Amino acid sequence: MKKYRLIIMVIIAMGIILIGTSDPLTSFYKTTGLISNGINKDRNIESDNTKNKGSQKDSTDKKNTQGNNEEGRNTTDENSKILICIDPGHQTKGDPNLEPVAPGSPYKKARVSSGTVGVATKKPEYVLNLEASVVLKHILEGKGYSVIMTREGHDVNISNSERAIFANNKNANMVVRIHADSLDNSSKTGASILVPEEGGKYTASIYEESNKCAEFIKGKMNESGIQLNGIFQRGDLTGFNWSKVPVVLVEMGFMSNYSEDQMMSNPDYQRKLMRSIADGIEEYFKTK
Ligand SMILES: [Zn+2]
Repeated sequence: MKKYRLIIMVIIAMGIILIGTSDPLTSFYKTTGLISNGINKDRNIESDNTKNKGSQKDSTDKKNTQGNNEEGRNTTDENSKILICIDPGHQTKGDPNLEPVAPGSPYKKARVSSGTVGVATKKPEYVLNLEASVVLKHILEGKGYSVIMTREGHDVNISNSERAIFANNKNANMVVRIHADSLDNSSKTGASILVPEEGGKYTASIYEESNKCAEFIKGKMNESGIQLNGIFQRGDLTGFNWSKVPVVLVEMGFMSNYSEDQMMSNPDYQRKLMRSIADGIEEYFKTK
């Protein structure tokens, strides 16, 4: 019994010495300090589209580098050779002047329409489209891709054919057009992916690759739990018919639905949606 009592006394004595030498308050602050730094960092990544662009990019780059290490190869260098053109739909003022819907076509449509407006946010579509496009640009750049944009401001006048020709002339590998939908039926929700028409007179050569990319984006949207109405072929879009580059158009959701309109302006949702597009594009280029 004496032996046990001695051991207990020794343990108690060691405990007293340990408590005496450590500073519990300092270590408490250190721990909570670390935790709150972590949270702040994440908050910058998730919610801030316009400020802190630098930190956003840095964080994504770090993540990317980590990924490369795990995979044991440097995908960033390979990705930098891939040029992605983002086209944020519309602009401050639509241009009702006409342009041919396809090269040499007698049919004409407005050079660029004015887009829709959010029922809840009152935000014009061209503002939402650029907001989301900038998020997408940063995510793609974080993955190491080269990215160009048809517009980085609102006060421009670039027609749909001119946007397509811009990407053609730059030899882009993929065009992603960002839009938002609107309907008289305000209950309709969900994203849609539009691709050029299969066997279309002007788009036959780009259909297959466009659709392949759309399928990968669809897969990533499904994984992220994003409501997707499907992939739809369109032969009537000027921006597709003039494109020599595979192209997908993402209608992010319906600005005519009150809650979906609000959701599309939520930075966390925007980032989730744009990440699924970027991840889909990445999967597509892995097959190349
Ligand atoms: Zn639109």
